[in-house]
Amino acid sequence: MAQRTFSIIKPDAVRDGHAAAILADIEKAGFKIVTIRKQSISNAQAQGFYYVHKERPFFGELCSFMSSGPIFLMVLEKDNAIADLRKLMGATNPANAEEGTIRKKYAKSIGENAIHGSDAEDTAKFELGYWFAGYELI
Ligand code: GDP
Repeated sequence: MAQRTFSIIKPDAVRDGHAAAILADIEKAGFKIVTIRKQSISNAQAQGFYYVHKERPFFGELCSFMSSGPIFLMVLEKDNAIADLRKLMGATNPANAEEGTIRKKYAKSIGENAIHGSDAEDTAKFELGYWFAGYELI
C-alpha cells in the first residue's frame, strides 16, 4: 500500500551541489515527490524537529548544522516508503553505509550526512505535520 514519508536534503548536500543528484536517486528508486520546499530553518525550528534527541550529546551541534544553510523539505510516497527510504539513505555514519546508498555517495561524516528520513510511521506523521500544512499534501 502506498505510504508517505518525510525527508530532508541536509545543508551539507545542498551546499555541495548534490541536491539534484539525490532527487534523481530518489525518483529512480520509485518514489513520487508529493511536495518539496527549499528553505533555511532557524536553530529553534531545528530544536523542535529534533526534540526526541534533546538529551543526546550532539544535539547542539545537530541543530546548529541543520540551521547552517538552505535545505530541501519533502514528502515522498511509494509502497513501503519509510523502510525503503531508510535503505536508500544508508547507515547514519557514511563510513558504515552500503555502496550505492545516498550517504555512501554524498555524506561527509556521521553529523553531516546528506539526508534525513523518518524512521517509523509515528515519526513520519509528526515530521510531516511539523513542516507542512494539510493543503500542501493533497
Ligand atoms: P538517522 O535516523 O540515521 O538520521 O540517525 P539518528 O536518528 O541516530 O540521528 C539523527 C541525526 O543526528 C543524524 O542523521 C546525524 O545528522 C546526527 N547525529 C547522529 N549521531 C551523531 C554524532 O555522533 N555526532 C553528530 N555531530 N551528529 C550526530
